[in-house]
Amino acid sequence: MKSWIPDARQFAYLNWKQVDALPRDKTLLVVPTGAIEQHGYHLPLATDALCADLLLGKALELVPAELPIYALPTVCYGKSNEHIGFPGTISMSASTYMAVLRDIGASVAAAGFKKLLFFNAHGGNMQLNDVMARDLRAEFGMRTFHMGASAGAVLEGLSAQERKYGFHANEVETSWLLAATPELVDTSAYTVNYIARVEDESILSPEFGAVNFAWLTRDIAASGVMGDPTNASAEKGEMWLAACAKKAAAALVAAYEYENLHKP
Ligand SMILES: [Zn+2]
Repeated sequence: MKSWIPDARQFAYLNWKQVDALPRDKTLLVVPTGAIEQHGYHLPLATDALCADLLLGKALELVPAELPIYALPTVCYGKSNEHIGFPGTISMSASTYMAVLRDIGASVAAAGFKKLLFFNAHGGNMQLNDVMARDLRAEFGMRTFHMGASAGAVLEGLSAQERKYGFHANEVETSWLLAATPELVDTSAYTVNYIARVEDESILSPEFGAVNFAWLTRDIAASGVMGDPTNASAEKGEMWLAACAKKAAAALVAAYEYENLHKP
C-alpha cells in the first residue's frame, strides 16, 4: 500500500532498541484506521485505508520535528458490513475489529506507552473507535483519543447537500484521491446518488437525526455511491487536504501535550 507518512514518523521502521529509548509517558502513538470496501465504480476498494494514511501523513508533516509522535501501520480492514454484497468488500465483524484495536493497545501498554490515538477515515469504524478508546483507558489506564481524519475542518466550497449527504465515494474522497493518486480514479465512471435531501425534513434520518434508520448500501445505492463526485477536482483535493492537515496537526500536538484530567 502507498504511504504518505514521513519515514521518520513510521513506528514500524524503528528497531526495538530505538523504541526502548522513546519517552514512554510522552510519546503519542497514532493508529490510522481505514477500510477495504466498495467505493462505487470510480474509486478503489482501498480508498479509506489510503485516505487514513494520506491525511495523517500530511498532518505529521506539520508537527514539530522534535515531538515524539509516531504512526503505527494502518489497520486497513474495518467494519464494513454496510457494503456487503458488493464484490471486493472485506469486512471485519465488530468484535474482531475491537479485538484488533484492544490487542494493539495491550501491546503498546505492555511496552509502557501511555498515549494512543485512533485516526479514522471510515465511518463504519467511528463508534467502535470511540468504544475502544474508552475501554483501553479503563483497562490499561492509558490516555487514549479518537478522531476523524478530517479533524473537524470546514471544507470550503461544498454544497449543503453534499456536505450533509455526501457520505461515500463523494466529492471530498474523490478530490483527495485525484490530488494524491489520480491513477486510481476512473473519472469516466462517476455516478450520483443521495440517500436523502437536505430540504426534506423527515422524522427518520439515515444519519445524524433524532431517529435514525440502519441502512445497507445495497438497499439505497445501486452503484455504491452516496454523494456526487462529479464536481471533484485535484485542486479541491489539495485545498481540503491542507485544511484537514492543519486541524489534525493541531489535534495531534494537543493530544501529545494533554496531561491531567480535570480534578474537582
Ligand atoms: Zn470512503
